[in-house]
Amino acid sequence: MKIHEYQGKEILRSFGVPVPRGIPAFTVQEAVEAAQKLGGPVWVVKAQIHAGGRGKGGGVKVAKTLDEVKTLAGQILGMQLKTHQTGPEGQKVRRLYIEEGADIQKEYYLSVLTDRASQKVAIIASSEGGMNIEEVAHSHPEKIVKVFVDPLTGLTDAQGQELAKGVNMPEGSVPQFIDVCKKLYKCYMDTDASLVEINPLNRDSKGNIIALDAKFNFDSNALFRHPEIVALRDLDEEDPAELEASKFDLSYISLDGNIGCMVNGAGLAMATMDTIKLFGGEPANFLDVGGGATTEKVTEAFKIMLKNPKVKGILVNIFGGIMRCDTIATGVVAACKAVNLQVPLVVRMKGTFEEEGKKILADSKLPIISADTMADAATKIVAAVK
Ligand code: ADP
Ligand code: MG
Repeated sequence: MKIHEYQGKEILRSFGVPVPRGIPAFTVQEAVEAAQKLGGPVWVVKAQIHAGGRGKGGGVKVAKTLDEVKTLAGQILGMQLKTHQTGPEGQKVRRLYIEEGADIQKEYYLSVLTDRASQKVAIIASSEGGMNIEEVAHSHPEKIVKVFVDPLTGLTDAQGQELAKGVNMPEGSVPQFIDVCKKLYKCYMDTDASLVEINPLNRDSKGNIIALDAKFNFDSNALFRHPEIVALRDLDEEDPAELEASKFDLSYISLDGNIGCMVNGAGLAMATMDTIKLFGGEPANFLDVGGGATTEKVTEAFKIMLKNPKVKGILVNIFGGIMRCDTIATGVVAACKAVNLQVPLVVRMKGTFEEEGKKILADSKLPIISADTMADAATKIVAAVK
């Protein structure tokens, strides 16, 4: 789960990480009032969306007068903000953050994340802050320093020094920098985050360290013990199809292709997407209907897939283990009738009550294309959507 920058900064503040003073605003009026409350001389008007790269996209602007705050707030609020993380359609700005302007001497990068390769918590820092870190990693890997934290000791002073040295932190700011690293690590652990990223972390002309941006990802499996974080969820920022799917306990992820797929089991769903690609097609989604798919669930799954105008065909791939093929077949037939299916449908079923399932599909007289193997199913659906 993701949250907005202003919410992230509230969390950072509660862990003692220095952040500028700021106030969220939902209207232009509130933005001006926020600026008045903060006092000048410089404010930054920041679009709040769940994507980075807002600065480059025109969603972060400096204002030197209250009039400018008003004009910029009017421009940014409601804009369709496009960044490298939003995709070409962009994301509508519904919230602003009005923040005091910081005195920027040098921008650094600092993050805490779960490193899958080492199965440890990594702290990553770079002297090249404010930029796209993936680009830095690509073109200047030597400018990135990484340490792995032992959960028993936490971040040690020696590791803090290593990070400070790696980013060429001036001597006078090193204690503050290490302090921020330690607090950020504690924040990451205590909130069950999977990523806390500060880009940029600013050193001002007096040598003080302050976080100018805040990005959090939380491990959704741990949200049950963080109601205070769940309360920060902003449904406007989430994919409507994924949101709808979650209501029916379906695991659904939107993708860019034109073949909708409905599968039981996450592993089989991944393998099905791979097979579609191997045979020259592009999946429109990942969808795992789970072990206990009912007719209602299958119908909802069809509705959600078909709401996507890009979908030109559907592939159903079911392994009947605990789930019986005849149950799924009944669900598929009911769903096809309920949604008045207009695109080709290929169904592959294997396992428990397979023959009964196939008979239900055939007896339905619906134009369902039956397939035997995964390769057969992929070949047929790719041909059908062409
Ligand atoms: P994003 O990463 O989405 O582009 P940031 O919050 O990092 O958004 O803002 C982009 C840039 O704007 C930062 O790299 C920084 O240079 C500048 N900036 C952000 N907040 C402030 C602030 N409070 N004062 C001065 N400059 C800021
Ligand atoms: Mg940033």
